[in-house]
Amino acid sequence: MQNTDDFPVSPTPPEPIFADEQALDRLWQSALGEIEVQVSRPNFITWFKNTRFLHKKGSTACIGLPNNFAKEWVENKYSKAVLGALRSLEESITKVDFVVISQKNSVVKNRLARPAIAFDESQLSFPEFKVDPESGLNPRYSFNTFIVGKSNELAHAAASAIVEDIGKKYNPLFVYGGVGLGKTHLIQSVGNEIKAKYQGKIRVRYTSAEKFTNDVISAIKNRRMETIKEKYRLIDVLIIDDIQFIIGKQATEEEFFHTFNALHENNKQIIVSSDKSPKFMPELAERLRSRFEGGMLVDIGYPDYELRYAVLKAKSQERGIELSDEVIEVLANRIQRTLREMEGLLNKIIFYQRTKQVPITTRLVEEILNEVLQEPVRSIHPNIVINAVADSFEISIADLIGSSRKRELVGPRQIAMYLLRDMLDLSYPNIGDRMGKRDHTTALYAYEKIAEAINKNQSLNQKVIAIRELITKQ
Ligand code: ADP
Ligand code: MG
Repeated sequence: MQNTDDFPVSPTPPEPIFADEQALDRLWQSALGEIEVQVSRPNFITWFKNTRFLHKKGSTACIGLPNNFAKEWVENKYSKAVLGALRSLEESITKVDFVVISQKNSVVKNRLARPAIAFDESQLSFPEFKVDPESGLNPRYSFNTFIVGKSNELAHAAASAIVEDIGKKYNPLFVYGGVGLGKTHLIQSVGNEIKAKYQGKIRVRYTSAEKFTNDVISAIKNRRMETIKEKYRLIDVLIIDDIQFIIGKQATEEEFFHTFNALHENNKQIIVSSDKSPKFMPELAERLRSRFEGGMLVDIGYPDYELRYAVLKAKSQERGIELSDEVIEVLANRIQRTLREMEGLLNKIIFYQRTKQVPITTRLVEEILNEVLQEPVRSIHPNIVINAVADSFEISIADLIGSSRKRELVGPRQIAMYLLRDMLDLSYPNIGDRMGKRDHTTALYAYEKIAEAINKNQSLNQKVIAIRELITKQ
């Protein structure tokens, strides 16, 4: 065997899956997709841009970070997330090392010298990072790629109306909803659309509330408050993302309030996003809350099946991967989470397809999902599951866990056992016990039966999904 210490000279790496650097890069891109789901966007961008998967030696993955600071930070805070993400894609990885890569660093030089795939920024960096410096907008987000469904149609309608009627109709526009549901995508789309339509005549600025806060802090420190005024008041459209971030930061709230007033009085458009409605932001200064409530409030909810289906279809096409309708159906059915999480899972599947060169069958997708969606929701009490099943079949709990073998009771009973296992990860003996002191093999049988049946029976599947939704909403 050749000495693998001198990476990257080895012409025949031991693991075929990593035979080329492209495979490493793809693996890393997929892992980043997973990590992105777990950390906040600003943190993700700060700590994970310009990171690279350098090599894998044995079971250790070596990740390059741009400087010492990033290395220490990621090592301390995110090593678990990084290892988890890599491991979930490639089981053989059991350890991660972080190293600093700089232009002077020989590892990079070596890699750059290699013809196969050098560090071409444009290839490796996320599209997110090609932000327009003037407006702060990311061209990736556009109305063209924003798919409208029931959960976002109102927000979409209000956002599109602004393009035609800037500063007048809905001012401010306040978009709220949980993480990963499309707020950033939507509000940036407005900015990009206005930029394109008015060809620079309307000045747009997008910023995260976090960045706004940093600007305020550094302006205070440098005694240059006028820089804030220049940056945020001499514009026509101000888009501030994740406003909840400024809560409790007095100087920032104060500055934002004045910025808001200055713009609003001049009929400039303000668009704000938040993870919750102003009503549920009690710590927010009253005067700001009433400003927000005086505008147009729209929420983005969790995507329903149709929207999940459409987004999956679009995102897979965007990435140049053909998924069969059946596969998309399985995915849309099983992933009942946010669109961002859905993308993370899609990344994972694309990764399998590309690196392992296997066709994506519904079966493979089921396997991947079973692995990923396993995390049990421990905070849910089993009685909630049992109640929800009884309620949705309109039967009593006594009947549900009783001994009658009537068909209309056996089905719901098995579904309850299936969900207790699938959602709560209870042991079979425990499930049997709760479901009328049944044997653990009955619980096991019920679980397997329903798990199989939902793949074949679409209406049963829909029913189970509806019950799940009922349970998680409680
Ligand atoms: P939020 O800002 O609410 O946390 P994002 O706007 O970052 O969510 O959306 C998460 C991911 O889902 C992004 O990649 C975004 O492009 C995608 N996404 C969200 N909503 C839609 C939609 N309606 N159509 C297409 N993609 C969407
Ligand atoms: Mg966002």
